[in-house]
Amino acid sequence: MQFSDFPFNKSILKAVAEERYHTPTLVQQQAIPLVLEKKNVIVSAQTGTGKTAAFALPIIQLLFDKPVDENEVRKIKSLVVTPTRELAIQILENFKSYSKYTNLKTTAVFGGVSLEPQKEELANGIDILIATPGRLIDLQLQGNIDLGAIEIFVLDEADLMLDMGFINDVTKIEKLCPKKKQTLLFSATIPEKIDELAKTIVKNSVKVEI
Ligand code: AMP
Repeated sequence: MQFSDFPFNKSILKAVAEERYHTPTLVQQQAIPLVLEKKNVIVSAQTGTGKTAAFALPIIQLLFDKPVDENEVRKIKSLVVTPTRELAIQILENFKSYSKYTNLKTTAVFGGVSLEPQKEELANGIDILIATPGRLIDLQLQGNIDLGAIEIFVLDEADLMLDMGFINDVTKIEKLCPKKKQTLLFSATIPEKIDELAKTIVKNSVKVEI
């Protein structure tokens, strides 16, 4: 199988080719078609399996399908919540590489750095936001983030999120997004607590196990 077997736009395929990815990994083969069909998906896959591209590429495709009105400030259409700043930076780099031939704007917000540059970037309008839970809630409380137009919500490393005590924050963030949206949950393992969380925030889901 090749990436060109997926119904991806040429701009995405060109960027993927430059990454020198030849074959989609197992999680990509299974998850990408489901995400493109706008299904809610729960994926159990470890880091290193190519799971970031398994959500990033179809999200870029889904958002790419919608024309952007350059006269309007963009509203965040996809939110990826991840537990650590290192993961947020990594995911941002992936999104930037895969979307470099599109006009989509992506940024990341995370704690441990000053708020002002993040506020400025958000004010310019963003299509895809990657965030750690604490900083996201801070910025939302200060009125810098509107999650009212979210179409695709991704919860990355859900089990790590649980271990780090972020579950209440995650539930809070999910409630700030519209009820009607596509939700993708990624976790290395699915312990009972994650299964419970999945039941409350990811309805009618399809499961992918790698
Ligand atoms: P991840 O599991 O998302 O952390 O990805 C692990 C590594 O695999 C990253 O360095 C990706 O750039 C790389 N990668 C993702 N998809 C592919 C692919 N289809 N072929 C080769 N490498 C890939």
